[in-house]
Amino acid sequence: MDRTFLLGVPLDPVTRTEALEMIRRFLREEKQRHVMTPNNEMLVEACHNTSFRDLLNRTTLNIPDSVGLLWMARFTRQRLSQRVTGVDTVTTLCTSLTEETPIFLLGAKPGVAESAAQALMSSNPHLKVTGCFAGTPREEDAPIILTMIRAAAPHLLLVAYGAPAQDLWIDRYLKELPSVRVAMGIGGTFDFLAGTRKRAPAWMRRMGLEWLWRLVREPKRIGRIWRAVVIFPLLVLRYGKAAPRI
Ligand code: UDP
Repeated sequence: MDRTFLLGVPLDPVTRTEALEMIRRFLREEKQRHVMTPNNEMLVEACHNTSFRDLLNRTTLNIPDSVGLLWMARFTRQRLSQRVTGVDTVTTLCTSLTEETPIFLLGAKPGVAESAAQALMSSNPHLKVTGCFAGTPREEDAPIILTMIRAAAPHLLLVAYGAPAQDLWIDRYLKELPSVRVAMGIGGTFDFLAGTRKRAPAWMRRMGLEWLWRLVREPKRIGRIWRAVVIFPLLVLRYGKAAPRI
């Protein structure tokens, strides 16, 4: 499948069903894979953070998490099938997992991963959650986190430290976690599942107005929203598929 490029970052033109099928297949194989959920803001970050951009070029699957990526793909005469969000992917994936695929939830504020795990287990009693831990992406916390995850031996590791921290964490430590077959950076997914953050209504998501919902509910995110809604399209207008030299 040909990948779509925006600002030097590859994006996979998969449907929700294809993304799920691929992740299920990865979970059956021994190889280790990193799945990322890029959005507008992450592509802006990749313009000036070259190690983050390099990482986005090394991951197995980059599912297009935001509607802005679809619009800008069309603008550059490329194709992305549909928006495939991290939260929907995790939710649907976890409804079909069995005891054979243990999972570990890392990140978010203390207690949030546990509530998210409860929500996932209530829709799938066969789901085996072998650990939840808030921790932090700081280097000094890594030894304890790695010890916990090794003891829990999950096949699927979900990491919620926000981008780029969560994906840089995975890139740095995945090799030290031999049981993990798929690691995914999943942003605010645990908050949505736990109910500590409310998703925008479906009509707002469809119209690409999620940013407005976030602006009203969390005005302190204005800088991030500005980068996603204004800077990102301007950068694509200027540089298109290529990585900018800035
Ligand atoms: N987070 C964390 N530690 C950090 C930074 C963020 O656990 O040092 C968590 C935060 O609590 C949230 C998740 O990372 O659950 C994603 O945060 P963000 O607000 O960036 O969500 P996004 O907008 O990426 O969905």
